[in-house]
Amino acid sequence: MAKSPLPPRDAECIFCKIVAGELPCHKVHEDEHTIAFMDIFPASPGHVLVIPKDHHPDLLAMPDDLLGPVMAATRRVALAVAKSQGPDGMNLFQANGVAAGQTVFHFHMHILPRRTGDGVLSTEHGKRAGDHAMLAREAEALRGALADM
Ligand code: AMP
Ligand code: ZN
Repeated sequence: MAKSPLPPRDAECIFCKIVAGELPCHKVHEDEHTIAFMDIFPASPGHVLVIPKDHHPDLLAMPDDLLGPVMAATRRVALAVAKSQGPDGMNLFQANGVAAGQTVFHFHMHILPRRTGDGVLSTEHGKRAGDHAMLAREAEALRGALADM
């Protein structure tokens, strides 16, 4: 059977509709594997999303061979955000699952320009010391999981 020239998509997915040109977006970048466009509910000025053209719900579902192209596009767009917005810093992040705040289930990287003291994204890491016995147990469980993969 002939391979479809269109990327694998999910009929209900708004980002697949953006890739197909069925929904509008403020596109800033496109290459063979990815597109990037402005987030329409921006957390800060210049907030951009970078997505693979193919539909994969989250990072855990992403094929290894797409991760390089998506990160390369993310870095390229982040450099352009730095140039055009002149932020003090940037957060690059993505969410996996409802509990993590994911609302669109088509993998995407957020590029979030930051200003000193803007309070846009509060993070808890680096504030309270961890318990080393617990860290050791977690590390052992992780090494076991990685060895099984
Ligand atoms: P997440 O919560 O990580 O799944 O992020 C989804 C992001 O997609 C949110 O920041 C939304 O503001 C953004 N978003 C939702 N619909 C659209 C759309 N049609 N065009 C651009 N960004 C969108
Ligand atoms: Zn999709």
